[in-house]
Amino acid sequence: MEAWPSVLVATPVHSGLGEVLSYRHPTTLPAGTLVRVPLGARDVLGIVRDCPASPPEGLDPASARAVSVVLEGLPPLSAGWLQLLRFAAQYYQRSMGEVALGSLPPPLRDLDATQLARRLKRLAKPSPVGGAPGPTDAPRVLHDEQAAALAGIQAADRPVLLFGATGSGKTEVYLQAAEAELTARPDAQVLVLVPEINLTPQLEARLQARFEARFGSGAVVCLHSGLTPAQRLAGWLAAHTGRARIVLGTRMAVFASLPGLRLIMVDEEHDPSYKSQDGARHSARDLAVYRAKVEGCRVVLGSATPSLESWHAAEQGRYRRLDMPGRIGGGRLPRLRLVDMNHQPKGALLAPPLLQAMTERVARGEQCLVLLNRRGYAPVLACHACGWKSGCPHCSAYRVFHKIDRSLRCHHCGTTSRVPRACPDCGNLDIAPVGRGTEQLEEQLTELLTEVRRPDGSPVRVARMDADSTRLKGALQAQLDALHSGEVDVLVGTQMVAKGHDFRRITLVAALNADAALFASDHRAPERLFALLMQAGGRAGRDAQHSEGSELWVQTWHPAHSLFTHLRTHDFAGFASAELGEREAAGMPPFAHQALLRADARTQEAAQGFLNAAARAAADLPGTNDITLYPAVPLTIQRVANVERAQLLVEAVSRPVLQRFLAAWQPLLLACRSDPAARGLLRFAVDVDPLSL
Ligand code: ADP
Ligand code: ZN
Ligand code: ZN
Repeated sequence: MEAWPSVLVATPVHSGLGEVLSYRHPTTLPAGTLVRVPLGARDVLGIVRDCPASPPEGLDPASARAVSVVLEGLPPLSAGWLQLLRFAAQYYQRSMGEVALGSLPPPLRDLDATQLARRLKRLAKPSPVGGAPGPTDAPRVLHDEQAAALAGIQAADRPVLLFGATGSGKTEVYLQAAEAELTARPDAQVLVLVPEINLTPQLEARLQARFEARFGSGAVVCLHSGLTPAQRLAGWLAAHTGRARIVLGTRMAVFASLPGLRLIMVDEEHDPSYKSQDGARHSARDLAVYRAKVEGCRVVLGSATPSLESWHAAEQGRYRRLDMPGRIGGGRLPRLRLVDMNHQPKGALLAPPLLQAMTERVARGEQCLVLLNRRGYAPVLACHACGWKSGCPHCSAYRVFHKIDRSLRCHHCGTTSRVPRACPDCGNLDIAPVGRGTEQLEEQLTELLTEVRRPDGSPVRVARMDADSTRLKGALQAQLDALHSGEVDVLVGTQMVAKGHDFRRITLVAALNADAALFASDHRAPERLFALLMQAGGRAGRDAQHSEGSELWVQTWHPAHSLFTHLRTHDFAGFASAELGEREAAGMPPFAHQALLRADARTQEAAQGFLNAAARAAADLPGTNDITLYPAVPLTIQRVANVERAQLLVEAVSRPVLQRFLAAWQPLLLACRSDPAARGLLRFAVDVDPLSL
């Protein structure tokens, strides 16, 4: 019987084509079926959303085009998957076609039916179970805290926040929780999310060693952007056909098709990498929680330093918190050593006591990790003589230094002034952005340590590890190997070194320029700094043997800052409750809900012109009393590749209020593109729950 499938294709919201296009087909097609359909002069990949028996209103049956090909070898995408994508599109203000098709591996878009059949055949080859060639890894006997956490996960009737110290053995708990699900049902699947690609090789090897002997080689697949298109397709197909039992991936993997999904684990759930910075700008962690609800499966968010959002949800009882405070092997967390920079020689990169401590450790054959604060914090101006900071007179925030026109701007209310020539409080001429360029740190350290000798008399080796130094394939592994084998004495790095790696002989971790985050304009900066220092400190003394004298050094101009009080006692709970108190008083997330409207244009006037038009249009919407629209401001990095960027902050008291507003605003935004003030606008986008302003 002839049917009229509505098919999702990759049309962005602003194309004006609508979410779905209607086609005709001789028989009815189940929702989720993958098809190829004509669009303009081309054939494109599409997903059947539903399949009415009669043509939709407004469609002239005579002119309706037919579905070109049904990809019959592939089972349809599940109802749960479609629901996840529908929700994600709605929540992040995108079209469902754009999000759904965008989540599929790119080669799937181009394969014809024959090529696809060949891939599937290759996938279906039986693989040996038992006697897998690689190394094997037997389950450990769980410690009491781990056993209690595992039982708690299995008994939980809501999302679990696994709050376990660094080195408390969370990974072992993940593995055993996964094993229980995989054993219970032959079709069960488990999704493990990690924040960064560079964490996957270690964990992938671990998962394979643990599970491939039992569940067959190929039971573990990876999904992340570092794979070749062919690898991504193979992994996706393995997951979709149920052949893969465990999918390990970065944020994109939250959209993997997993018909047997029983358990989702989000490791280092606080990590900002879970929030995508382009496309739909989704939060994979938040979608994981939604997906678990839709699929009726478990979800575990794990961290030693949970996001305040998750912590708050646990406090409210929406999540179940399970604690593992102890470290495996009893290694102690490092002692905090604050260096008061007010009492150090002016201009010193490394305070003499810190340099001294590093020298002693290296001479003893121990390793040091020197951390640069994560880049990209908006700089704030400060006077080191009296402590003045470029605060905003109208907000509990600091104004940001914009180098391009030497102005100070508040990113919340828009207040702008020229950079003062001298400190407004004490007249000191020496005011400077907090947090300076640190590119030459590796070089300078090498110089500073040139006289020092290792126990065997050889010179000190300093290495750097960051996004640049590890870009080449294999470079990261080579650097890690050098570190493990003891070739490197001092490792200089960005926040990436603080994540996940298990460095045995590190006994000293130093953070040099932590202050930038204490006074950043971004209200999440202290939370990130605390997490970074806890995680970095967690690298030190993981071996009980080396943990006795392990230390976390922090250079700061503000040693009395309350953040350090909690850091000294490794008291995340205390920090979280103090920080949440401040957020509540200031009406910041998670006590308010935010979205950003961002605009890119040829001129800053056009970008802001569009945003202002959008704000005027919003005034006519019902219910805007519960919404605050802030004035348009340029982004901190205002111009990139000759594109001017601006943004407008929207704040609401609740998520539903914000969602209703955004949904009603969306069509008006499309109309605002043709406002005369927006001439020169290139594109706009809505970022829901932005992580930085
Ligand atoms: P986390 O992820 O919480 O920082 P890990 O899972 O990396 O901690 O565990 C720290 C170390 O302890 C690892 O080397 C791990 O192999 C080991 N470990 C974990 N659980 C056990 C256990 N039950 N018995 C023995 N060793 C364990
Ligand atoms: Zn001053
Ligand atoms: Zn302000």
